[in-house]
Amino acid sequence: MVKAVVGANWGDEGKGKITDMLAQEADIVIRFQGGANAGHTIVNNYGKFALHTLPSGVFYEHVTNIIGNGVALNVPRLFQEIKELTDRRVPAPHIMISERAQLVMPYHILLDTYEEARLAGKSFGSTKSGIAPFYSDKFAKIGFQVSELFDEGLLREKVLRVCELKNVLFEHLYHKDPIDPEQLLETLHEYRDMVAPYVGNVSAFLDEALRAGKNILLEGQLGTMKDPDHGIYPMVTSSSTLAAYGAIGAGLPPYEIKKIIAVTKAYSSAVGAGAFVSEIFGEEADELRRRGGDGGEYGATTGRPRRMGWYDCVASKYGCRLQGATDVALTVLDVLGYLDEIPVCTGYEIDGEVTTEFPVTWKLEKAKPVLTVLQGWKCDIRGIRSYAELPENCRKYIEFIEAQIGYPVTMVSNGPGREDIIYRQSSLA
Ligand code: GDP
Repeated sequence: MVKAVVGANWGDEGKGKITDMLAQEADIVIRFQGGANAGHTIVNNYGKFALHTLPSGVFYEHVTNIIGNGVALNVPRLFQEIKELTDRRVPAPHIMISERAQLVMPYHILLDTYEEARLAGKSFGSTKSGIAPFYSDKFAKIGFQVSELFDEGLLREKVLRVCELKNVLFEHLYHKDPIDPEQLLETLHEYRDMVAPYVGNVSAFLDEALRAGKNILLEGQLGTMKDPDHGIYPMVTSSSTLAAYGAIGAGLPPYEIKKIIAVTKAYSSAVGAGAFVSEIFGEEADELRRRGGDGGEYGATTGRPRRMGWYDCVASKYGCRLQGATDVALTVLDVLGYLDEIPVCTGYEIDGEVTTEFPVTWKLEKAKPVLTVLQGWKCDIRGIRSYAELPENCRKYIEFIEAQIGYPVTMVSNGPGREDIIYRQSSLA
């Protein structure tokens, strides 16, 4: 059985925690898109970890963790992350890297950095991890597949050809030193030796696993709003963040994905530029940012303060729909316990008209939030394990959101730990 854990919003919804929790019952956990540009924070009995490239199953010895073909693989970062785990006494994880995954090249990172500087004020708020240049090259068919590291003739010819092209940009657009192909080749040989023990034919492995009835978990990065097709283009990431892409980015049949868990946080946060309709500012935002997540809402990869907002039902309804949510996990609910009243965004007013349909980007820029104010529950709900024991106003908050978005909230997360979860029967399920 294949399950996917994906984000219904802008990312940072708490997917890492839900994946870590569900990985307990999984045999295989797969990252199917994105790169080291975002991170999951996971708190478990080994401590607190920020994962960027590694799948969230790495804390379980029984799990095979796969870097799927859809991922932007930054080899040094992957090995640095593995070392961070083993340095902190986590047993060396079982890793498999798809032979069809492509490599983030050192020049992708440089190009990302130079391009952001060139665009200055008009930049996309990139994390400068080379992700946009990486995916551009993948689709321009000048990317490097992991498998190609093992064919020296092909590798040399391609490095020379690609350097010729890249160096036009380096020298004439960015006025920087050109790439030295021999040096690049040397770096790629190092990458080859690092990945060699882990490379495999992932789709064949998964086919066998499915026939053997194994449990497979697909782990998404970011969320619907960052999808290049369905998100807030162009303020999006460069690979699809949708569960449907899990089939492609892992290499398994789409009909095998039986459960799609859309993760949504009990309030909103976003990083980078772009319209964010329910955004709040000033002291109100600062307080939520300080109290948010587990130790504040600051980027797991970048440390940047996240933009904060009230829960956005319009974005989440759309987010769950595009993900094809069979289940919704509502996370970080415990953080809202300090509020007397909690506004929720239930509509967008665009040119004087109210809609609950998430619009295209240029209309989104004009949208003003329509807020409904709910009563807070004013207590700490951490440690509660059954839905009935939650304060009434807290249950009302959950049920209000569920009715607005129209997808079943079957899990409520009330703390960062694996055990901080309340399973719930939903009438929508
Ligand atoms: P992801 O990328 O979707 O995994 O999200 P992040 O890891 O960036 O952000 C989630 C943050 O919230 C992390 O610091 C988690 O440890 C924390 N977290 C997850 N679920 C809960 C929860 O229910 N309550 C609290 N207080 N923190 C949570």
